[in-house]
Amino acid sequence: MKRFSLAVHGGAGTILKSNLTPELETAYHAGLRAALQAGHDVLAQDGCALDAVTAAVCALEDEPLFNAGRGAVYTSDGKQEMDAAVMDGSTRAAGAVGGIFGPRNPIRAARAVMENTDHVMLIGPNALDVAHNAGLPFADKDYFFTQARWDALQSTLDMRKRGVEDDDPARRHGTVGAVACDAVGNIAAATSTGGMTAKAPGRIGDTPIVGAGTFADNATCAVSGTGHGEVFIRYTAAAEIAARMRHVGQSLEDAADHVVMHDLADHDGSGGLIAVDAKGTITMPFNCEGMYRGKVTQRGDFETFIYR
Ligand code: ASP
Repeated sequence: MKRFSLAVHGGAGTILKSNLTPELETAYHAGLRAALQAGHDVLAQDGCALDAVTAAVCALEDEPLFNAGRGAVYTSDGKQEMDAAVMDGSTRAAGAVGGIFGPRNPIRAARAVMENTDHVMLIGPNALDVAHNAGLPFADKDYFFTQARWDALQSTLDMRKRGVEDDDPARRHGTVGAVACDAVGNIAAATSTGGMTAKAPGRIGDTPIVGAGTFADNATCAVSGTGHGEVFIRYTAAAEIAARMRHVGQSLEDAADHVVMHDLADHDGSGGLIAVDAKGTITMPFNCEGMYRGKVTQRGDFETFIYR
């Protein structure tokens, strides 16, 4: 009996039922479901976890509702700079890109770094060259533009101009990610983001940093995070879950819960994560109002959620 599982997220933050119309809610569920389907299709055909998380994240990057790829948020100077990472738990191979603009699917650029270079992370023109050389499709700023993200930038800049502190950083973030365990027990993680609205040009978040927003090791877990990146980096969120499992023998669920509800929440680190272990166990904790998320197992039960 094959036993694979897959989870996806489309970002965590101040997601209130009162702010979402029924139409938008339906659209978010459909976006998550399409990503689960893309990953599930890979796993159901005996594909590997790495291919499944790549396919799922590509689907989320293509959906403008989510803050990654098409629909990425804007920097304070009105540009889009995208971060992404992928990691294979069977080999601990990893690839990441930071602050790039151009490839339609930044996650595939991250994967090209992993597969076609000796490095883990590339930024700047070399990252784009690797994507070009891998034959990945590029798109222009019209493709990546969404009115909602542009408006969010204007309102954040306006608040700054008036000297009003944004009391709720959770309003400004979002990210997409996937974790999977395949039929032979290999696990993988992939995460992709536009970062945080009105971030400083050049700011890199936790997403492309192995052990912060993305991590995978068959011996412990695969993790994809979403939230206030600076706190995820300072508390090495994903690596801490793996360390708790390895050194203290905690379960995936207990370790992930501790990191999200204490290490992050106690230090203004709003957000959440999805994680899987090599038995296919999935956990999806978050410490804010909502997290777009979903999961599917080999039984084919697709489930998507937004609020608590
Ligand atoms: N973690 C991402 C970042 O800080 C944003 C998010 O997940 O909401 O870039």
